[in-house]
Amino acid sequence: GKIIFGDQILDRSVVHIDLEDRGYQFGDGVYEVIRVYGGKLFTAKEHIERLFQSAKKIKMDISMTPERIEDLVAELVKENGVGFGSVYMQVTRGTAPRTHMFPKPDSQTTAVLTAYTNEVPRPERQLESGVDAITAEDIRWLRCDIKSLNLLPNVLAKQEATEAGCFEAILHRSGIVTEGSSSNAYLVRNGEVITHPADNFILNGITRQVLAKLCQENGIPFVEKAFGVVDLLQADEVFITSTTSEVMPIVKVDDKPIGAGKPGGVTRKLQTLFEAKINEETKV
Ligand code: PMP
Repeated sequence: GKIIFGDQILDRSVVHIDLEDRGYQFGDGVYEVIRVYGGKLFTAKEHIERLFQSAKKIKMDISMTPERIEDLVAELVKENGVGFGSVYMQVTRGTAPRTHMFPKPDSQTTAVLTAYTNEVPRPERQLESGVDAITAEDIRWLRCDIKSLNLLPNVLAKQEATEAGCFEAILHRSGIVTEGSSSNAYLVRNGEVITHPADNFILNGITRQVLAKLCQENGIPFVEKAFGVVDLLQADEVFITSTTSEVMPIVKVDDKPIGAGKPGGVTRKLQTLFEAKINEETKV
């Protein structure tokens, strides 16, 4: 298939990344995943905007415009004939002799954009039945608001969940729930949707932002405040959100059923609203 490399769309087979790409050696870069529904990009502008915000926070100059990137990504999706899938894109600080400090401004090293597409079906069965989660200590750094390539703690947490037969690890810092290893986490209590504030301890998910707006428009209280693992286990409902998982019900945490042990009414309502949003945004 085709990929994006720098400012061009090329055959994947002709592109080679250098051993001294700073993304490869230091995780010195940022990334995004954009969902594709029926060949159409969903919330692409928001994702590309967040890519630029992440880059700025690590003092990296993308040296392309958001408009150009959106055009390239749309073209890539078209050329690869993606139906239901995703675009993975990342920007690294480029290739330079390995030293920790940034390449010198006169070194001709520039940030390098790469992107490729995947077919990914919607997780319909799991959205219907709900999935299980474990809790795990959040051992990440203090800038989780940056969508950086450094994902080792997330990888370790997800692997722990997988080995426990679970879909996600819900992370906590000394008992305060932050987010999932690759998702945002929520509980529902007395009809209120509660989630961690969008500060440096979580990634402010694009799905989270869409959901906040849907709640606001539909009179569902969306409360951004910290809650504990104890609150999670005693909640009426628990769910997570992400670009690929959408609004995913969590029916068991650490082997204990949440509420009635099946997806709850508020979660169902949010799934319906989110699905309507997808249809509205991606209709031809
Ligand atoms: N938090 C983390 C740590 C993530 O990796 C993700 C998935 N990108 C999210 C939250 C959800 O973000 P989004 O809704 O933008 O996919």
